[in-house]
Amino acid sequence: MKPNRADISSGIALMSAMRSSWIDGRAVDDVGEVMSHRNPANDADLGDTVMADARTVDLAMSSARRCFEGSWGSLSPYDRKKLLLGYADLIDEHAAELTLLEMLEVGRPSSDAAALNAAAGDIIRTYAAKIDTVNGDMFRSEERRMGVVLRRPRGVVGAIVPWNVPVMNVLLRLAPALAAGNTIVVKASELCPRTTLLLARLASEAGLPNGAFNAVIGAGPVAGARLAEHPDLNLVAFTGSSATGHAVARAAASTNFKPVLLECGGKSPQVVLDDAFEDERIWALLFFSAFWNTGQWCVAKTRLLIPRAREQQAIDGLMSAAREWRVGDPADPATRLGPLASRGQLARVRGYYAKAGALGEVINLGCPRGDMQGDGYYALPSIVTGLPRGSVLQKEEVFGPLMTVELFDDLDDAIALANDTEFGLSASVWTARSDHGYKLARNIRAGGISIFSSVDAARSTGPELGTARYFEPQKESGLGIDGGEHGYLAYTTPQSLYFHN
Ligand code: NAD
Repeated sequence: MKPNRADISSGIALMSAMRSSWIDGRAVDDVGEVMSHRNPANDADLGDTVMADARTVDLAMSSARRCFEGSWGSLSPYDRKKLLLGYADLIDEHAAELTLLEMLEVGRPSSDAAALNAAAGDIIRTYAAKIDTVNGDMFRSEERRMGVVLRRPRGVVGAIVPWNVPVMNVLLRLAPALAAGNTIVVKASELCPRTTLLLARLASEAGLPNGAFNAVIGAGPVAGARLAEHPDLNLVAFTGSSATGHAVARAAASTNFKPVLLECGGKSPQVVLDDAFEDERIWALLFFSAFWNTGQWCVAKTRLLIPRAREQQAIDGLMSAAREWRVGDPADPATRLGPLASRGQLARVRGYYAKAGALGEVINLGCPRGDMQGDGYYALPSIVTGLPRGSVLQKEEVFGPLMTVELFDDLDDAIALANDTEFGLSASVWTARSDHGYKLARNIRAGGISIFSSVDAARSTGPELGTARYFEPQKESGLGIDGGEHGYLAYTTPQSLYFHN
């Protein structure tokens, strides 16, 4: 449903009630440097928030430590699970507000954000279920000796997160950390602090003890850097760009031996083999996988790799798919693509359009336009053809609606092309030939690869919240296992006990 003016003004009222970091179950005093926020759809003023400095981060850390050593750490697994399930229900009850905040802060289309946020509580439930099912281990146990491995929480986890899908970015770090028994300090992205603050307030309302989830809002190089380097932090889970990932890993290593989990950038290829071109419906799926969320998606498949003879067919196919993707006001339920999240992001993306135009041919795919207010941060879905191999457009992450169309001669050429990037987050392969699909997937260096045997197969498998599948990003895309049971275990530390009787 389209949020009406009243909804939007209630969203703005909600924002103005949340101006500063949430620590120890309350908002910290709202004094200090402020950051002003603008609505990406029309550049309207959205008020300001107070930026945390290093001392505020230290306060959040002390509170999280106290809670870990006290009320959270002493809860039985049963009670921890019960609280988390109550929290999941509360998140579901407040899904409409979270959607409104995402729409106002980063321009996510309301219908799309509502669909995703309707499942937000499930992320908490999925990891809460692991409290019962993921246990430690036993080793070399015999008559007089028993070896047991306990899976213990690490302690205080720090999560530093980006802005592109605000609710999910927080929950995918928060849920495994809390379920495993840790407390957490989340450093929200500067662009969407209020979405994170609402999640933290809901945790308090659900009865999580003060300090279990502290949300710090502040600048990356100040608050993020202090959190990463903090000598009392036991794990840093970072999601964001590769350049910042390096800075976080350096800061983390500078004070203590805390492990780091890094989920960083991507430049993901999708390889479409000849046989997959027979089903015209493929274009809708290829379009979606590149342009969803206006291309601001870590696993966006923004490199289309196709046989040399298929270029014109690809251009025509993507243009026909684009007719179903209206760009415009994120409050309009008919909008499928909203603006970019910030003025800075718009400038970055425009810079890449200019480079693309200088190196190849940029083709606007002609999405229908809804209400696009002149001052909104809009960029229109486009492809670029005719690029020389190895150009910056094929290598650097744009994080916007620009897809490269790249031509290959045979399977080996497709593999070489797909791997010609510093990133290794994800890829997809389209072919009914399982031998070809397997060869491509085995040889493309990426953490997660989908092999689609047909359009029907791709459409029948439904949405994926990133909680079941586990993988490790490759190359500059990051470090550490994410998702599933192995991802959950990353938030624990094994302690082995040997009983000699
Ligand atoms: P970013 O790296 O600029 O910022 C991410 C977070 O790091 C923010 O909270 C920011 O304030 C903080 N930060 C910035 N400098 C810091 C520093 N010196 N020390 C500590 N923290 C610092 O990324 P972004 O622009 O917010 O997000 C876009 C990027 O995130 C893209 O590269 C995208 O691919 C990536 N991303 C990856 C995944 C994934 O799962 N792999 C998911 C979403 C987004």
